[in-house]
Amino acid sequence: MQEVAGRGVPRANANAGKPFCKALEVARTCEQGDEPMAITPQPGISDIALYQGGDAHVDGVNRVIKLSSNENPLGPSPLARAAYLEAAGSMEVYPSSDHAGLRAAIAEVHGLDADRIICGAGSDEIISFLCTAYAGPGDEVLYSEHGFLMYPISAQVAGATPVTARETSRHANVDALIAGVNPDTRLVFVANPNNPTGTMIPVDDLARLAEALPDECLLVIDGAYAEYVDDYDGGAALVAARDNVVMTRTFSKIFGLGGLRVGWAYAPGHVIDTMNRVRGPFNVSAPGLAAAEAAMRDQDYVASCKAANARWRDWLAAELDGLGLPSDRSLANFILVQFPDEDAAKAADDWLRKFGLIVRRVAGYGLPHCLRITVGDEDACRSIVKFMSEFQKGARA
Ligand code: PMP
Repeated sequence: MQEVAGRGVPRANANAGKPFCKALEVARTCEQGDEPMAITPQPGISDIALYQGGDAHVDGVNRVIKLSSNENPLGPSPLARAAYLEAAGSMEVYPSSDHAGLRAAIAEVHGLDADRIICGAGSDEIISFLCTAYAGPGDEVLYSEHGFLMYPISAQVAGATPVTARETSRHANVDALIAGVNPDTRLVFVANPNNPTGTMIPVDDLARLAEALPDECLLVIDGAYAEYVDDYDGGAALVAARDNVVMTRTFSKIFGLGGLRVGWAYAPGHVIDTMNRVRGPFNVSAPGLAAAEAAMRDQDYVASCKAANARWRDWLAAELDGLGLPSDRSLANFILVQFPDEDAAKAADDWLRKFGLIVRRVAGYGLPHCLRITVGDEDACRSIVKFMSEFQKGARA
């Protein structure tokens, strides 16, 4: 990543040395015909690459299947939908500020301490709280080579410098992460499973990483896809056992509530206290809180989504592999398909779009020869295989 100037460094500005346009000086500045002070963002903000969400439209195609944002093709639990509609009856009332109902539901279902849970407008907001609270100019935020792009973005917003550690065949490498830590490192982010690779590393490796960190550095285990993994607590036990580990989770993936923006984190008490000072008082909407609480309590529905995802994910990966398109074993709700080169990946993407199938290009993640495909429903998976089979035959002819 590019190094950015720290917040403490004076900004280069055409108006440097001229008086600010504050009340008493406006008249004089304007009388003299000076240009007004240029409105300039904080250092480094203009260098931030815009986050590109998954496309949802293809010009000239009426019916699309969106497989570009890792959404749940089955949608949310009917109980979550009903809770949302009920909450819509009192839109004039501010939401709960302490999120007590949702935190209690999460705590009960996961066997966690509700006082160590915080809720955010998606886990994106929690990532942002952490960077704002713990990293600033001169500090480093470490993440793995093909890690989620909101880590460097949130680090740069905070004025900190994002740093990457190399991966081994698209798997996070704990030794490289440990080697990347220095006295300036404040946060280390590891998504497990990771987006966009779909791979994960054992909890023992995460424990080794947490143990190796200096006192002033937090490990953040991003569990956006943890619910898709068998016998995995997302890192919760590690959070409970240590005071330098945070786990983030989301309602956007298996719970099918991406449009409502609800995420949460489990963290040591001192980190919860710090994040609550950064958090806006009404950061999650009332319908979002109500739907997320009902979704969390409907674990039968979660289990059915998990089973459907595993079935079609593994089928899709095997079928594409049979067509000469391999992918690493994914533990999430998407697969990262490898093509011989960037041109082939781009041609396949263009080909699928013609038929309204929108997948995700991941060149921005350092994976230009790959496409990330969300596991859709049966029809979507069969369509992908059908059109990729045609593509491969045409490509080989
Ligand atoms: N972490 C990872 C690894 C993700 O893939 C995503 C969603 N793309 C998020 C966090 C953020 O999810 P949300 O803000 O919707 O909770």
